Amino acid sequence: MNDDTRFHATCPHCGATNRVPAARVDEHPVCGRCAKPLLDGQVLALSDADFDAVLMATDRPLLVDFWAAWCGPCRMMAPAFAQAAQQLGERALLVKVDTDANLQLAQRFAIRSIPTLVKIVQGREVARTSGAVPAGAIVQMAQG
Ligand SMILES: [Zn+2]
Repeated sequence: MNDDTRFHATCPHCGATNRVPAARVDEHPVCGRCAKPLLDGQVLALSDADFDAVLMATDRPLLVDFWAAWCGPCRMMAPAFAQAAQQLGERALLVKVDTDANLQLAQRFAIRSIPTLVKIVQGREVARTSGAVPAGAIVQMAQG
């Protein structure tokens, strides 16, 4: 694993695209342009290239939303997932993975229908659910 792996994060305050070192995902990185918190309460969009580096760097439970742009229920659930990320704050890391663009992850997690939520704790899958779920259920799954 390359320690210099970075992932892309769009600043929720100014819209700037930042390339964040995966190793620093739990260190409250700030935006390079406006210096405001970049990730607090945000959903991270990860890919085949950076998923494992983030997974290894975080101490938090990871809740991964496997989705695709053409999937209606996925688009319906996106606001609930974002809302859950805000509610959870630092208690969990909420991640979305586009299954069309990231075939390795989709295959590795044997994603057969979307949306599918997978909870990972210390590198191991501990829970999974398929189909759109409301924000309250997402928060519960992340904490449970
Ligand atoms: Zn910014």
